[in-house]
Amino acid sequence: MFPFDNSYARLPEKFHSAVYPEAVKGPVLIKFNAPLAKKLKLDLDEADTARLAAIFSGNVLPPGAEPLAMAYAGHQFGNFVPRLGDGRAILLGEVVDETGVRRDIQLKGAGPTPFSRRGDGRAALGPVLREYIVSEAMAGLGIPATRALAAVLTGEGVQRETVLPGAVFVRVAASHVRIGTFQYFAAQGDTDGVRTLADYVIERHYPALKQADNPYLALLDAVSARQAELIARWLGVGFIHGVMNTDNMTVSGETIDFGPCAFLDDYDPMKVFSSIDQQGRYAYRNQPGIGQWNIARLAECLLPLLDADEEKAVEAANGVLKAFGERFQAAWLSVFSQKIGIAGAPEEGDGELIQALLSAMHEGRADFTLTFRRLTKLALADAQGGDEKVRLDAEASFLEGFAPWDKAERFLPLWRARLAREAGDAGTLMRRVNPALIARNHRIEEAIVAAMAGDLSPFETLVAAVADPYTDRPEFTALTQAPRDEERVLRTFCGT
Ligand code: AMP
Ligand code: MG
Repeated sequence: MFPFDNSYARLPEKFHSAVYPEAVKGPVLIKFNAPLAKKLKLDLDEADTARLAAIFSGNVLPPGAEPLAMAYAGHQFGNFVPRLGDGRAILLGEVVDETGVRRDIQLKGAGPTPFSRRGDGRAALGPVLREYIVSEAMAGLGIPATRALAAVLTGEGVQRETVLPGAVFVRVAASHVRIGTFQYFAAQGDTDGVRTLADYVIERHYPALKQADNPYLALLDAVSARQAELIARWLGVGFIHGVMNTDNMTVSGETIDFGPCAFLDDYDPMKVFSSIDQQGRYAYRNQPGIGQWNIARLAECLLPLLDADEEKAVEAANGVLKAFGERFQAAWLSVFSQKIGIAGAPEEGDGELIQALLSAMHEGRADFTLTFRRLTKLALADAQGGDEKVRLDAEASFLEGFAPWDKAERFLPLWRARLAREAGDAGTLMRRVNPALIARNHRIEEAIVAAMAGDLSPFETLVAAVADPYTDRPEFTALTQAPRDEERVLRTFCGT
C-alpha cells in the first residue's frame, strides 16, 4: 500500500529505537492531504475515511513500515541536552516520491517511545492543527518545509493544563536528521557515529558532494548555505520560528517543528510570540544570528572529520561560519529587493532603501504582509500610467497602513526613482513574491477554538486559503486582513 524503501532503519542500532505506535480508542480523520499522498505514490485511492484514520492514527500499520524513534540531542535555548530523541514521534518509514526524492512519513503523537522521558508521547488537537496549517502555508509560499499528510483525532484525552482532545499529526519530511542528531554522537565522542551520519546525509541530501575534495567540509558548507537561504526566506514573509533549538533545525534545509511559530502582523523586528522564549532569543531579527550559532554547533560535531590537524579543521570551519553571514546578507538583500520590485543587478543603496521602508513600517506599526501587497498594487497602478485616480487610490491605501505615515511618504519618491531604473515589470514580479495572505495568528486561533467545539470549517477554509497565497481570491478576503486590536494574539504556545 505504501511503497516503503526504508534507509534510516538500516543504520546501526544506536541511531534509533524500534517502537510501535500505541493503539488509540476512537480514531477519526480530521484531514487527509490527498494531493500530497499522490505525489508520494501512496496507494490510498480505495481507502475510506475509517481506513485512513486507522492508518494515520497508528492503529493499523501499513505493510513494510518499520516504525522507529530517532535518537538526537540538542541545545534548547542555549543549554545542551545530550539525549532528547523522538519522544512523541514515530517514523513509519520512507518512500521515494514521484520526483525521485526520498521522504520520511512520521506520526507525531502516536504514543510513548524510549525517548519520552516524563512525556506521554501524545499531542493535543490545537498544536496538531497549528502544525497542519503552518506547514501547508509554508508550502503555499514556496518555502522549504515539512508537509502535512494527515491529522486524526484519537478519541482520547491528553492531560495538559486541562484535559484536551488528543490528535496525531502525520508529517512528511525530506528527512528528520537535525543538527542535534550530529550532536548526539559527537557529545559521546563517537566519531564513527558522526561519520556514519555524515555519509548518510551526503548520500541522501547532497549526493554531488561525494566528489568534493573534502566532502565533510562541503557538507557543512552546504547545510550552512541552505540554512542561510531558508532564514532569509522566513524573514521575507515575516515568519518567526519560535524554537530554533539545534534539535529543531534540519540538515536538509526544511523548516521543521511548528510549535509556537507565528507570522508577524505589524512589523516589529524584536517581536517574540513564544510563551517560553522569555529572553527573546528567537525574536524575528535574531533568527539569522541564531542560524549561524546553530551551524557553529554542527561545525563542532564535524571537526574531527574536517582535518586530522585540529587547527586546520577549526580554520576551515571558521571559513564556513564567516560565509554564513555573507550568504545570509546576500539572500536577505535578494529577497527584500524583489519584494520592492528590484530584480535586476543590485545597486549601491538598495539595502538602505529597503531599511527605509522597514523603518517606516516599524515606526508606523504597519502590517508586514499588507504593506508589501499594497506596495505591489501601487507598482501596478504606477506602471499602468493612464488612470490617475487608480494611482492615487493605491497610494492612499498604501499610506493608510502607517500611523504615522510621514516616513512612508518620504520612501515613495526614492522607491519610484529606483524602479525607474529597472527594466522589467516590477508590479508583476512583486505580486509573485509578496503574498496576499499568510496564516495569521488570530485565524489559526479561531480555527483551533472552532475545531475544539466540533466545527472544522474555519480550519478547512484556512488550509484552502493558504495553499495559494499569491492570488487575490475574493472568497478569502476576510483572511487577508490584519487583526483588530481585540483579535490580536500576543502569545503562542508549544505543543508540549
Ligand atoms: P519539541 O518541543 O517538539 O521540539 O520537543 C523537544 C523534545 O521534547 C523532543 O525530544 C520531543 O520528543 C520531546 N517531547 C515533546 N513533547 C513530548 C511529549 N508529549 N511526550 C514525550 N516527549 C515529548
Ligand atoms: Mg522538536
